[in-house]
Amino acid sequence: MTSICRICIRRPSSLILFRGPSPSLRPENTSPKPLLIRPCSSKLPPMPKKVVVVGGGIVGVSTAYYLSHHESSPTVTLIEASSIACGASGKAGGLLALDWHGNDTASLARLSYQLHASLAEEFNGRERWGYRELTTLEISCAEGKTPSRHVAGVPDWLRDGVVSKVGNLGTTQSTAQVHPRRFCEAIVKESKDLEVIIGHVSKILLHEDKKVKGVEVEFDNKTRTIDADVVVVTAGPWTTRLLPNIPVSTQRAHSITIATQTPVSPYALFTNIKMRNGSVVTPEIYPRLDEIYACGDVDKLAPLPKFAKDVKVDEGRCRQIVKNISVVSELLEKGEVTAMQACYLPYSEIGPGPSIGWVPGMRNVAVAAGHSCWGICNAPGTGKLLTELICEGRISSANIQSLDPGRYTR
Ligand SMILES: Cc1cc2nc3c(=O)[nH]c(=O)nc-3n(C[C@H](O)[C@H](O)[C@H](O)COP(=O)(O)OP(=O)(O)OC[C@H]3O[C@@H](n4cnc5c(N)ncnc54)[C@H](O)[C@@H]3O)c2cc1C
Repeated sequence: MTSICRICIRRPSSLILFRGPSPSLRPENTSPKPLLIRPCSSKLPPMPKKVVVVGGGIVGVSTAYYLSHHESSPTVTLIEASSIACGASGKAGGLLALDWHGNDTASLARLSYQLHASLAEEFNGRERWGYRELTTLEISCAEGKTPSRHVAGVPDWLRDGVVSKVGNLGTTQSTAQVHPRRFCEAIVKESKDLEVIIGHVSKILLHEDKKVKGVEVEFDNKTRTIDADVVVVTAGPWTTRLLPNIPVSTQRAHSITIATQTPVSPYALFTNIKMRNGSVVTPEIYPRLDEIYACGDVDKLAPLPKFAKDVKVDEGRCRQIVKNISVVSELLEKGEVTAMQACYLPYSEIGPGPSIGWVPGMRNVAVAAGHSCWGICNAPGTGKLLTELICEGRISSANIQSLDPGRYTR
């Protein structure tokens, strides 16, 4: 069975990403190589005293966390328009995979996977944000049909005999999970002397020589300027509104959660379900410590609003997810639905992977955006690498050369 990232499946074929283990992943492409990326001035930046991070999704909070703990002790301000993790970072599944990634992000993903484990160890992430190792399966079933033979190796919370085919996509050595919103909130708390401002950044302010001066922030019907030596834009799908030369596209995705009375065994499920009406649906199901999460397909029916808090939820789509996953489990059919939600997936319009590094045409403005369906997995590594770039002038813990934002303008 091939595993396709469901939430990207409706993109133009050139943009379809494979979420399953990449056949082209070769060890020689994954070893971290030191990389020096300079801002367009071609001089290394002086050690920044004040860094502003724009956007409190998982990429922004991870970046703020690593910056705040850097030995050079920059003052770090995180500016978030709505609330921490109010976008995709609070509404994602939370699957982490060690080795499912293509060449461009393989090294970033390996670093991130290790960082997720060490953050969980250091800050009791197992209890605080539900970090745990998982078995990841792909299952096939059909509504109203019980296959004649029993398929072994499927979780006990599925309907008896409902699975007609099972494939193993990941083991407890190579896949894990977090509760993304709880992770973000905890990482903000564990940041050192981090200032968090709830406000909307309307502009990046530059000096005549294109060096950054700060940002203009709107809040409480007032506009205020905040000075900075370095500005980092981690605004997910909104990134292009501040940086028009960074091509981040977006699609809306719906998801639901169902409360569980007892802990459900740790299996992530990529499903292929044939419905009675002949359609095939492919929800992803992630049991957590006290709930089960499921997400469906993406759509482009509602444009990205100015604020994440104003994202429109189509409850009909959420109810359809519940109906679809009810085929596989009585627990899901009978459980209490505790959230019906939607968010916007940020993905890179051109080329593979997110854009991470200095923004071309500006000095001391960095970006990390367009992480597609792997932002939860790859955020800690992104934050660490950006911190190296900003505070040390070079990225040394992974090879993300092909993610340089300058690739679009050369
Ligand atoms: C349904 C679904 C399931 C997913 N499942 C997984 C998964 O299992 N594993 C995985 O690794 N990834 C998953 N992802 C992908 C992951 O959710 C995203 O890649 C990730 O959340 C992107 O994080 P971000 O910080 O870049 O963006 P966002 O989470 O969108 O955060 C951007 C933040 O910036 C703020 N902002 C925007 N503009 C401004 C401004 N001008 N001023 C101030 N603040 C601003 C917004 O309010 C928002 O909070 C999933 C995505 C979806 C949609």
